Amino acid sequence: MEILSLPGQAAKGKVWLVGAGPGDVELLTLKAWRILKTADAVLYDALVSQDILALIPKDAEKIAVGKRAGKHSAAQDEINQLLVTKAYTRKNVVRLKGGDPFIFGRGGEELQTLVEAGVEFEVVPGITAASGTSAYAGIPLTHRDHAQGVTFITGHCQLESRPMDWQGYANPNNTLVVYMGILNAGIIRQGLVDAGRSPDTPVAIVSKATTKEQRRFIGRLGELEQLAADPELQMPALMIIGEVVALSDTLHWFNPEAVESSHASDEQTQSVSVSPRR
Ligand code: SAH
Repeated sequence: MEILSLPGQAAKGKVWLVGAGPGDVELLTLKAWRILKTADAVLYDALVSQDILALIPKDAEKIAVGKRAGKHSAAQDEINQLLVTKAYTRKNVVRLKGGDPFIFGRGGEELQTLVEAGVEFEVVPGITAASGTSAYAGIPLTHRDHAQGVTFITGHCQLESRPMDWQGYANPNNTLVVYMGILNAGIIRQGLVDAGRSPDTPVAIVSKATTKEQRRFIGRLGELEQLAADPELQMPALMIIGEVVALSDTLHWFNPEAVESSHASDEQTQSVSVSPRR
């Protein structure tokens, strides 16, 4: 889709691509908080928690740009256009994303659009779901005795066009973190086991990590589908696969029931519905 900008005119505003972290409002960086407080318009994803949305100034325009499953490209085009349009009419435009904007966040794609349209921008990193989950579930992603490295992959596998490197991911000395993998749990289990990873490898699925609704589902790689199908598992959820998961028994400290939370009102939220491109 061609991005429409106003020829001969400079964009008035600047876009801040900001990571909101995994959920707990206190995991927002001071910089993200400072920028949010000056926002004139905020375009946010479905993953950003209500507690964080409550920090947006009352008079700022709040735009939910949640994407519908399976309609990513059409939605993304519209979000890109909206960012450029807002930069022409508003001073401080915040594009607020869950976790870190450069980790499975399409932050790079959105910035490329801004570059094309000549819009000024800055990026504020956030705590990615892997780090938040690791900390709040008591699972260190690396450990001298158990994992010499960690790999983040998307389980939203574009399986045919870009085959997954199961051989690479099956390394037993490595921790594997799978974003967006719940619906493909069977494919992930099979890919890893066929490539030689033991079905006894400890796995954790952690849902709504860092929030008062966090739940951990812990088991073995061989039963990944059963864990992913637990009726109590809510989205978003992340998988951690590797020996380090066993440490969670002793390192687990977070008690979600002890978390207090104030929920923001949704009154000022404007929703943009994005339609698929045919
Ligand atoms: N940019 C984000 C990731 C976006 S992809 C980041 O850096 O965290 C969306 C995926 O992130 C979800 O499908 C889920 O796998 C994971 N995720 C995000 N927030 C999460 C949370 N609070 N708990 C568990 N998983 C989460």
